[in-house]
Amino acid sequence: MYDAIIIGSGPAGLTAAIYTTRANLRTLIIAGGKWGGQLMLTTIVDNYPGFAEGIQGPDLMFAMRKQAERFGTEFIDEDFAEGDFSQKPFKIKAANKTYEGKSVIIATGADTKWLDIPGEKEKIGRGVSSCAPCDAFFFKGKKVIVVGGGDSAMEEALVLANFADSITIVHRSETLRASQIMQKKVSENSKIKFLFNTEISRILGDEKVTGAELRNNKTREVAKMDLDGVFVAIGHIPNTMKFKGIDLDEKGYMKVKDHTRTNIDGIFVAGDVHDSHYRQAVTAAGFGCMAALEADHWLRGQE
Ligand code: NAP
Repeated sequence: MYDAIIIGSGPAGLTAAIYTTRANLRTLIIAGGKWGGQLMLTTIVDNYPGFAEGIQGPDLMFAMRKQAERFGTEFIDEDFAEGDFSQKPFKIKAANKTYEGKSVIIATGADTKWLDIPGEKEKIGRGVSSCAPCDAFFFKGKKVIVVGGGDSAMEEALVLANFADSITIVHRSETLRASQIMQKKVSENSKIKFLFNTEISRILGDEKVTGAELRNNKTREVAKMDLDGVFVAIGHIPNTMKFKGIDLDEKGYMKVKDHTRTNIDGIFVAGDVHDSHYRQAVTAAGFGCMAALEADHWLRGQE
């Protein structure tokens, strides 16, 4: 029997574990087959406090995991399958095993949002990607587009510029959502160009990406562009699907009350799975801390 079972192992889950274990709560993390969350897919993180020169995303996550392990957190590197939250202790299934927890902290984060257009899904890994730090190397000397107008799209384009010859950021709107600093970095890179008011309607190619069909949403002109790669950076979808009985808000994120609580007593939530607004590593870590403190407080009230 665990005092706290934490589902998810990004900054929110690992920070929660550091706090629960230091509060002497027996803690299990269901870390996922691919543990560490979105920072495992990024390169340099320049805005996480404490690292004056920045830190590589995976290095930050390894350090957090080591810190959680130092205080005795147990890890299961398997995906969460389902949870029975109808009675206490809560029952959590992962890899055909069931674990019992007096409290649960959900910190499952969010995943890539795809365009959902013809030619996309079947070419993921064959020219379609959502992770430039993982795949940019394969596009040496090639021509690619990045879809999106936020910081993620700018970051993808900048990473790709280290390898690809030509990068076009295709954005459906007229103005970017990205921060000024990221816009400046991109505009200073001669390999990166923009196509505004443009949507991608189809990804072309049989075995791999050979091009895309682009539509100007002002003039309605449709044009084909020859390409080797399409990087999708249009945001994320919270990982809420496997949780039955937990209330969601109108955007599909977990509904939170009193900062960390769900609608079920004893089930807490932290990070991108409930936060559609900030979505930063440091805020996720902060939410993890809050959820752990509240879980500890709640558990003591149950004794
Ligand atoms: P975002 O800020 O929500 O931007 C998503 C972009 O994708 C928007 O420009 C949006 O267009 C576009 N979009 C959404 N759905 C689309 C669709 N179906 N088809 C075409 N375009 C679509 O998401 P994000 O860039 O992933 O950033 C999320 C958060 O993480 C932000 O707070 C950001 O600051 C942060 N972040 C920071 C860094 C950094 O500091 N280095 C890096 C990455 C992310 P519209 O503008 O027209 O709505």
